[in-house]
Amino acid sequence: MGKPHVLVVPYPAQGHVIPFMELSRHLVKQGIKISFVNTEFNHKRVIHAFGKNVSENGFLRLVSVPDGLEDGEDRNRVGKLTESLCRDMPRQVKDLIHKFNASDDDKISCVLGDICLGLALDVAAELGIPTVALWPASMFQLVLNLSIPKHIDDGLIDENGTLLMKDKMLRLSPTTPVIHPTNFPWINIDTSPKAQKIMFDFILRNNKAFETTDRVLCNSCLELEPEGFNLLPRIIPIGPLSAANRLGNLSGNFWPEDPTCMQWLDQQPSGSVIYVAFGSYTVFDEIQFKELALGLELTNRPFLWVVREDITKGKHHVYPQGFIERVRNRGKTVSWAPQGAVLEHPSIACFISHCGWNSTLEGVSNGVPFLCWPYFADQFLDESYISGIWKVGLKFERDERGIIGKEEIKRKVERLLGDDNIRTRAVELKQKVTKSVGEGGHSDKALKDFVEWLKS
Ligand code: UDP
Repeated sequence: MGKPHVLVVPYPAQGHVIPFMELSRHLVKQGIKISFVNTEFNHKRVIHAFGKNVSENGFLRLVSVPDGLEDGEDRNRVGKLTESLCRDMPRQVKDLIHKFNASDDDKISCVLGDICLGLALDVAAELGIPTVALWPASMFQLVLNLSIPKHIDDGLIDENGTLLMKDKMLRLSPTTPVIHPTNFPWINIDTSPKAQKIMFDFILRNNKAFETTDRVLCNSCLELEPEGFNLLPRIIPIGPLSAANRLGNLSGNFWPEDPTCMQWLDQQPSGSVIYVAFGSYTVFDEIQFKELALGLELTNRPFLWVVREDITKGKHHVYPQGFIERVRNRGKTVSWAPQGAVLEHPSIACFISHCGWNSTLEGVSNGVPFLCWPYFADQFLDESYISGIWKVGLKFERDERGIIGKEEIKRKVERLLGDDNIRTRAVELKQKVTKSVGEGGHSDKALKDFVEWLKS
């Protein structure tokens, strides 16, 4: 029998491509052949960022399909992108599979898809190909999405996902976070009702794919979310993939990493640096951007700040006047950091984060305390885990202008760094997670079991 050949199809966003690439590279190390599908738009970015096309012993191949949008269209408008993917991608994925299957050496033995892009799993099932889904966010977010029929029965939302009880708080079990329903992902992801409805229907469609998939993996672990895995025992925890692999030099980044920050970190005292990063989507308005800069200045501590080229609405970032000169000796900005390596560095003291699930896992796996600054999607839920359940970080409070002010930033940095209990809990949580992905741990065993299944 030839090598298994797995077609990997993530949702086309940075926070999805990275964990799928982490899992793919792990599978390649186990002798499995991977064809990794990006949209053409992201494919170009990945090749540009990595500097070349990847080929891990010839077993990892990057392929691409169109996402259905025109060149200049805004892919950060999630509703629009989703609508286009639903329209065009099933046919593209089907054609790709037929192309591979035409060659005896390339036949697809399994499709590893994203539950957030259930349409690829549907296509594989239709063609009679075994399917595995990876859920790249928290287990609890999956439980919430799958509970939509219950939310409708309880009168919390209507059949279109519109919120009916705006002030009701939601708790699925005594040990899970309390959720404000305005933070359901289809509601907080876009203010337009049309986009909200597209997202709601998309989640319902993905929920169906979840039910028909042969196996479902989750990038989380029992130690982080025991209650989520109790509620849905069918889901297999194999994460955190970033901690399991520690592969470095990842070929899934949309932006080139700036390695100069690692030398800069080497020069900073141990446990001194505030790391500030908001993932791939978050966009700041000018007032909030300036306030963050002034808050970092006010802390009087070294900081490493990821300022993506598209992090503000305008073309040029408007730093407060004189800011760059004033912080020159203790602040460093980069447009994209090697975040895994940064969070592992001994000079890091804390992480000001938007609480995307990957960033959350990466901070937790390295025992770094958080200051939570969520924007949308599942980030509020992750904030609740960090500050309320695991207690390894603090929340920021917004002021009467609706922004996080410079004094609040200074105050919370000092409170966090002065709190030995938070630091101790963060180290304990890191130990639990490390044990889970280490030899013989829960996640390690589940991942090995999955590889055996793929090979069989
Ligand atoms: N990331 C990175 N360098 C940066 C900022 C982010 O490599 O400067 C990575 C980060 O390590 C994480 C991913 O980008 O793996 C962002 O995913 P997350 O789920 O945290 O947020 P999203 O981008 O989906 O909002």
